[in-house]
Amino acid sequence: MHYLKFKREKIDRCNICSQIAQLTWDHVPPQGGYKVTEVEQESIIQYLTGGAKKSYTFSQNGVKYRSICGSCNNGLLGSRFDTVLNEFTTDIMLMVKTSIQLPKGIIRVKTRPGLLAKAVIGHMLSASGEYGESKFDDRFRKYVLDDSLISPEGLRIFYWIYPYSSIKIIRDVGMPKYRGSWEDFKRGIGIFSIMKYFPIGFIVSDVEKYEGLEELTQYCGSNLSDEAFIRINLHDVREEYWPEVGDDNILLGGNGLGNGVSALPRRRKKN
Ligand SMILES: [Zn+2]
Repeated sequence: MHYLKFKREKIDRCNICSQIAQLTWDHVPPQGGYKVTEVEQESIIQYLTGGAKKSYTFSQNGVKYRSICGSCNNGLLGSRFDTVLNEFTTDIMLMVKTSIQLPKGIIRVKTRPGLLAKAVIGHMLSASGEYGESKFDDRFRKYVLDDSLISPEGLRIFYWIYPYSSIKIIRDVGMPKYRGSWEDFKRGIGIFSIMKYFPIGFIVSDVEKYEGLEELTQYCGSNLSDEAFIRINLHDVREEYWPEVGDDNILLGGNGLGNGVSALPRRRKKN
């Protein structure tokens, strides 16, 4: 059985700035953009492999990790990045409710792409009970901490509508750049980190494009606070378990897979 780790020592290394400091709790998704509920959480390995005997970890108020210091949590994510991410998801929720009948399903949402990208990557860093030491952790940290980097070097951020109540966070897995058959798989493997919660999913990867998804970093201007209207296709809805599961895919787990989480609003027994 695989047990999930949501916290480290009270004083430990911050997942973002790498300083030894008092660690604070970070919610994924960030508070303010959605209603926090009680959740049942299982490891990504259990979620992917199934099995009869399942173990869950419960949390009263959403998925959260004690993994980052106060200054990264409040000074960086809380005060600068999360407001942009939460406004973005709130705007999409409103549009999903009011404009689902648009013939083409294309909407454009105004946001600050540079700050949105930093929020996504910042929470991918914080959403781990371990201090990550992969090549991608280093790249993620460098990007989140350096204001002169408007978009993450060598990385793309793909996004799509995710109309499901589960929360999934998967870090640093290998998947074929092209889904399909073995012939497609032979065209190469990319490294993917995935964060999905209602109403949107994000993938950060070193591949140039992926399965026709919209891509965020192309909208990053020359300033962090630049605004842009980014394109969202409301009709491009994938399965809840996409992209990690599918006959047209293989998933190669690295060290990060053990920290991945799948969470659902807690089911109440009827009586
Ligand atoms: Zn920190």
